[in-house]
Amino acid sequence: MIPAASTPMQPRRWQQAWRDAVRDPRELLALLGLQDAALAVSEQAAAQFPLRVPRSFIARMRKGDPHDPLLRQVLPLDAEMRPVAGFALDAVGDGAAKAGPGVIHKYAGRALLVATGSCAVNCRYCFRRHFPYAQETAAAGGWRAAIAAIAADPSIEEVLLSGGDPLSLATSKLAELTDALRHIPHVRRLRIHTRLPIVLPERVDAELCAWLDALPWSVAVVVHANHANEFDADVDAAMAALRQTGAMVLNQAVLLKGVNDDVDTLAALAERGFAAGVLPYYLHQLDRVAGAAHFEVDDATALALHAALVARQSGYLVPRLVREVAGDTSKRALVDTGHGRHAPSVA
Ligand SMILES: *Cc1c(COP(=O)(O)O)cnc(C)c1O
Ligand code: SF4
Repeated sequence: MIPAASTPMQPRRWQQAWRDAVRDPRELLALLGLQDAALAVSEQAAAQFPLRVPRSFIARMRKGDPHDPLLRQVLPLDAEMRPVAGFALDAVGDGAAKAGPGVIHKYAGRALLVATGSCAVNCRYCFRRHFPYAQETAAAGGWRAAIAAIAADPSIEEVLLSGGDPLSLATSKLAELTDALRHIPHVRRLRIHTRLPIVLPERVDAELCAWLDALPWSVAVVVHANHANEFDADVDAAMAALRQTGAMVLNQAVLLKGVNDDVDTLAALAERGFAAGVLPYYLHQLDRVAGAAHFEVDDATALALHAALVARQSGYLVPRLVREVAGDTSKRALVDTGHGRHAPSVA
């Protein structure tokens, strides 16, 4: 979906870059000089969940490398169409925790708003592949239901904007929400979960930063990069601009086979992020959504990787290794059961 321009004026630069995203797998492969590579690209997978990737993200992929870790995150492959036991359509089970249209209140003190179903990039491992155009979004109807649900519950101190990608909304639409939240005394923090500053750094423009800067709360921006190569000079500038507004910038990554499932890659991601002013927050075990099984890293390997990171990096560069479990009231830390193939022995 293309967000409507908020005024009849010229579309903003980021909105142009958004519209200019590549949607044809053949065009993507041609841009990378891979038209002749024997890649198991799947029309069927692309029909189920279209390819979508901004050109500046493609520019960070290595030319001629069919195994490029950024390419792997976005290219529709045959492997997605193979059914695998345990991988389902609704892996996270958010249906039961809705407090109103687009509001999910599962965790103490925090209300998560599904602000929009849109994203600038389609990540193959995402639950969105089965709900590409989320019907119930908090922004619909001028945020009214979301604001009412938050105002009615004094236990909610933090509002999380998630999606889809909340920064796919026009800044004026985001400002409508925060203007209403200002009148709710128990709201103290705002958090934004977004991949846009990574995949489309043009989104962090002067208008967005002015909005963030003027917010009356402590703000956290949680970006999503899975590999050090996702950072470049434009992303560095976007991170610096976000930090200039006083926001805390954190990163969450998903542990993905063939993308970042080795300790050097994870260490490089944390170091590269820190150089850009971003601290690691979570390393997620994959949500078990149908079509993503080929990305899964087993728990024993995940724990061994995490232990190796702990052994060699500063503590603040080590993300928490977690999984989301339907019905839980927080992310669940992975714990060593001692049964895994690679698990170290326990005393
Ligand atoms: C992940 C998540 C949060 C935020 O959890 P933190 O551990 O605070 O990052 C809040 N609500 C829901 C429904 C979530 O899935
Ligand atoms: S940006 Fe996030 S929500 Fe959007 S497709 Fe990628 S992982 Fe899913």
